Amino acid sequence: MPRDPQTFSVGEGHDPSEHGWSLKTPIYETATFVFESAEAGKRYFEVVYQGAPLEPGERLPYAYSRLDSPNLRVVESRLARWEETDDALVFNSGMAAIYTVFISLLNPGDLVLHSTPMYGATADILRNLMGRFGVISKSFGPGTTVEEIKQLIGGDRLAMIYVETPANPTVDIFDIELTSSVAAGRGAITVVDNTFLSPVLQRPARHGADVVVHSATKYLGGHNDLTAGVVCGRQDLIDLLRHDRYRIGTTAQPSTASMLGRSIETLQMRVERQTTTATQLAGFLNDHPKVAAVNHLSLLAPDDPSYETYKKQCLGPGAMIALEVAGGEGAAFRFLNALKVVRLAVSLGGTESLAMHPWSTSHAQIPPEENTANGVTPGLIRFSVGVEAVEDLIHDLARALDQV
Ligand SMILES: *Cc1c(COP(=O)(O)O)cnc(C)c1O
Repeated sequence: MPRDPQTFSVGEGHDPSEHGWSLKTPIYETATFVFESAEAGKRYFEVVYQGAPLEPGERLPYAYSRLDSPNLRVVESRLARWEETDDALVFNSGMAAIYTVFISLLNPGDLVLHSTPMYGATADILRNLMGRFGVISKSFGPGTTVEEIKQLIGGDRLAMIYVETPANPTVDIFDIELTSSVAAGRGAITVVDNTFLSPVLQRPARHGADVVVHSATKYLGGHNDLTAGVVCGRQDLIDLLRHDRYRIGTTAQPSTASMLGRSIETLQMRVERQTTTATQLAGFLNDHPKVAAVNHLSLLAPDDPSYETYKKQCLGPGAMIALEVAGGEGAAFRFLNALKVVRLAVSLGGTESLAMHPWSTSHAQIPPEENTANGVTPGLIRFSVGVEAVEDLIHDLARALDQV
C-alpha cells in the first residue's frame, strides 16, 4: 500500500474499469444520473436524506450533481489523505466551505472565538451574517495565553475556536495545539483555516484540529484559474456537513472538481518551489533599506515568541510574505505600480506572483484602529510568491523599490 500523500495524489479514488478504461477521470457534465431501478432510487433517498446506514459492501450510486459526482469523490479522497483526516468535501469557493461549516455546526447563543487578523470575508460572515442568527463571536490576537482565552470565554457557551494560521495578511501564527486543548476541554471543536501553508507544510489534524478548511482557490488549485473550497475532518462532522451541502448546494461543479484534482497532482512540487523562492526573496527584502519590516516564517528568530509554535506545527515557511514599505500608503502604491513581473491582484498561492495592498482593499471594511492593532498598516503589502525564476523576481522587486 502506498503511504505518501503524493503517491495517493496521482491514483487514489479512480478505477479505470469504471470509466471506460480512461486513465483520467472523465468530467461528468451531467445534472442528473439514471437510477438502475425504482428500488435503487428509493434506497438512495433512504441513505442520503433519511440517514439510513450503508450495508457492508454497499456503494452509494449517484443521483444529482448538486449532491455528489464522480469527480468530487476522486479529489475528496486525495485531499483527505493530504490532511490526514477521515474524509473531505469540496465546495464551490472557500467562503462556501467556511459558511457551510458555520451554518452546520453553530446554533443561536453559541460563542465562536476566532483568531485575528483573519481573511476579511470570514470575519464579516461571523460577525454580521452569523451574528444575525444569534451567534456571538469574540477575537484573540497572536500570543494570547490560555488564561486570557479562558477569560474571553467567560460564562458563554463555547462551541468553536476558529484559527486562521498563518493569518491573512500578516502571516502571524497561532498555536493549534493550545487552542484545540482549550476547545476540547469545553466540548467545543477547533476549526483551522490552512489556506496559507497547505497540507504540504502544515497538517492541523495532527495538532488536535477537528476540521480543516481551505480556500482551494489558492495553493490547492494553484493556477489562479478556479474558485473552490475544501473541508477535511472527522467522519461525524463531515457527515453533518455533507448533509447540509446536499441541502444548500454549496457543492463544487464537476469541472471544478476535475481541475482541482489535476492541481493536487503537482501540489507538493509547486509549494516546495514557491517556498524556496520566497525564502530567498524574504532575505533580499529584509536587507533592503527601503523595506521597514518583513514577515516570512523563514525569518523567525529563536527568541521570537512564535518560534516554538513554528517548529512544532509547520513543516516549512511557505511562500506568503508580508512586507512593510517605509513611507506609508503613498510609498506602497508607488512600489505596487512599478512592479512588472509581479502582478497587482488579490488572491494568492498560484503560479503567478501577486502583490496587493490589504489596507485599501481586502481589509478596508475593518475599523482602522483594529487594523493597526493587528499589524495591517497603510504601508503593508501582501506578496504571494509564484513559480517564476528567482532572479527575475529579485530584479523586479529591486527596480520597484528604487521608485518608492
Ligand atoms: C481566499 C481566502 C478565503 C476565501 O476563499 P475564496 O475561495 O475566495 O472564497 C478564506 N480564507 C483565506 C485564508 C483566504 O486566503
